[in-house]
Amino acid sequence: MPSGNNLRVTFYGVRGSTPCSSDALRRYGGNTSCVVIENDDQAPIVCDVGTGLRNFGAAWGQVRPVEATMLISHLHWDHVQGLPFFNPIHHHNSAVTLYGPPHGEQSMRESFSGLMRPPYFPICCDQLPRGVRFLDAKSESFVVGDAKITAGNVPHVGDTNGYRIEIDGVVIAYLPDHQEPVGSPTSVAASVLELCDGADVIIHDAQFTAEELKSRPHWGHCTPRYALEVAAQAGVDRLVLFHHDPWHDDDTVDSLAQMCREEAKDLGVRHVIAASEGLVLRL
Ligand SMILES: [Zn+2]
Ligand SMILES: [Zn+2]
Repeated sequence: MPSGNNLRVTFYGVRGSTPCSSDALRRYGGNTSCVVIENDDQAPIVCDVGTGLRNFGAAWGQVRPVEATMLISHLHWDHVQGLPFFNPIHHHNSAVTLYGPPHGEQSMRESFSGLMRPPYFPICCDQLPRGVRFLDAKSESFVVGDAKITAGNVPHVGDTNGYRIEIDGVVIAYLPDHQEPVGSPTSVAASVLELCDGADVIIHDAQFTAEELKSRPHWGHCTPRYALEVAAQAGVDRLVLFHHDPWHDDDTVDSLAQMCREEAKDLGVRHVIAASEGLVLRL
């Protein structure tokens, strides 16, 4: 892995489906998907704007304008609910571009406008500062600052992107929600392998145990074992298990990660960890 730069990946929300809270979830945390990539003086790149985004706002400074790129995997609640509570986005000098998949003929902006408006929330997308832009992204690459970003399709429920982010020779693949193919646990979509190919780290869905997957085969998620399969086939030796089920307490996440580490040895994946809120990876 390249070294000598200041690339940091901070996990502000690691939970799937719904925010949750209890003593038994304290170590991994209860906020939903939000991962922030920062490099030197470059504008931050935010992967998903789940409820964890609120704490990035606290770290950034509540009354400070922000310039940022936000990569939205899809419009399920656990990936978008934090946006209105990210205080810097309401600053009139903020400049934020959100990229995400259109839903059929409906643009990403139209989808966001449907969920951020009365009676669900007091203000509409139209009332955000002019510098906040929503752009459709689907199977394409674009450059933002010193980063090359590629959006690609990931099997889930509805139109869903994964992202490949390349900065200073480091490659981060972000695939928070990924449907394991039923009855075909070693089959991985070509679009997924393209996103992950040779990455330095994959941040990947690991929501279900094998038993849970059996009873919820089409809910759009996978097991840690399948995340490992993706990493192995893509030639990646560092895997971060992500999007933990809200019903999985800290001990359950610990044991899933440990089981995955045991299996990883045979597949050439050397590092497996479970993401926790507050974790910072330096790459
Ligand atoms: Zn999700
Ligand atoms: Zn989802």
